[in-house]
Amino acid sequence: MKGVVILGSTGSIGESTLDVAARHPDRFRIVALAARSNEEALYRQCLQFRPGYAAMQDVAAGGRLKERLAGARSETRVLAGAQALITVATLPEADLVMAAIVGAAGLSPTLAAATAGKQLLLANKEALVLAGALLLDAARASGSRILPIDSEHNAIFQCLPPSRDERGPPPGVSRIVLTASGGPFLKTCRGDLASVTPEQAVAHPNWRMGRKISVDSATLMNKGLELIEACHLFSVTPDRVSVVIHPQSIVHSLVEFEDGSILAQLSQPDMRVPIAYALGWPERIASGVESLDLVRVGQLAFEAPDLERFPCLALAVQAARAGGTAPAVLNAANEVAVAAFLDRRLNFAGIPAVIDSVLQQHNLKPVRTLEDALAADAWARERALDRLSSRQAAGA
Ligand code: NAD
Ligand code: MG
Repeated sequence: MKGVVILGSTGSIGESTLDVAARHPDRFRIVALAARSNEEALYRQCLQFRPGYAAMQDVAAGGRLKERLAGARSETRVLAGAQALITVATLPEADLVMAAIVGAAGLSPTLAAATAGKQLLLANKEALVLAGALLLDAARASGSRILPIDSEHNAIFQCLPPSRDERGPPPGVSRIVLTASGGPFLKTCRGDLASVTPEQAVAHPNWRMGRKISVDSATLMNKGLELIEACHLFSVTPDRVSVVIHPQSIVHSLVEFEDGSILAQLSQPDMRVPIAYALGWPERIASGVESLDLVRVGQLAFEAPDLERFPCLALAVQAARAGGTAPAVLNAANEVAVAAFLDRRLNFAGIPAVIDSVLQQHNLKPVRTLEDALAADAWARERALDRLSSRQAAGA
């Protein structure tokens, strides 16, 4: 029986993780659930899964959850505040930690879980973009294994030889190919992109996901963050990673080997597949996802991404090549710009414009410590907010 902690349990990945875990009550026990402020969803999950602990980042919401659970005679202990996330990520009874908080906010508890030697199921790609080397070093030092949850990286992980030295590039691999659905605006012309709404941007054609990653998919920043994620996870340089648009989202990524062979992983576009793979690893367990009917899929198409219409991908490749603090700056500026877009304070085309302007003002530094990464993150957030206010003042 494995003890599972879910950081970000009320989100899309968190809910899918609970769905898979609930199919295997003989294998998994939920020891802790954690979220930001959605006390209603966490309350419901606590009654259903009876974790030992529930953690809320928002202290007021944590207080309300505690009262409600006490009223329902629940034995779940409620913790609140930023430290509560770290406490549950490092509980002695936790074997597996699902890192599914969205954004840079997930870095500290994710890093704490890696440092404590927990098996890390890593969905929180922003943590890797912000401080990938630190996270991987912490995992190596403690013996923590990282299993990628992002469908592309999970696919690549499945295609690579199982026994490999994770400190160097995988032997015999010539290229990693990340597939991208292209998002809801794959066919939208450049002029129309300026006026798309948050509702249109989060209506992804193939995947149901949280709002932030849905916007990232629409701008193709998601693929850019994933390219940086792949470089860290598989010890490859950015020039070994390419991106192809694959609108059906059936081939989740591919690995090309020196002899010209390409291996790919295919499935329905449902995150319960990579989640079940990582939960059960090294065994295969049922995910609840229906079998893939290839005849019904009919055709698999591939095309090149359009970097003119989707400049976020080009900005991310540029940051990946620059290294140092550039990916942290890219990520932070993107988080600020996406939040502003969702709040209707910035139009869609303004997202890459804000990120570009922040990257251009940045003086690259190395990331040797967590403080270096967090300082770059904080600097970029401030610059992005400045840029937003000057755009608003100019009526842009
Ligand atoms: P979501 O918005 O649906 O859920 C986010 C979760 O994080 C919620 O439980 C929320 O309470 C929690 N959270 C947010 N801010 C927090 C904070 N400051 N402190 C504590 N908890 C906080 O997001 P999602 O779609 O589930 O994505 C989660 C992560 O997984 C992201 O990094 C995303 O890029 C990655 N991911 C998601 C998918 C997907 O299909 N949804 C696929 C691949 C990767
Ligand atoms: Mg992905």
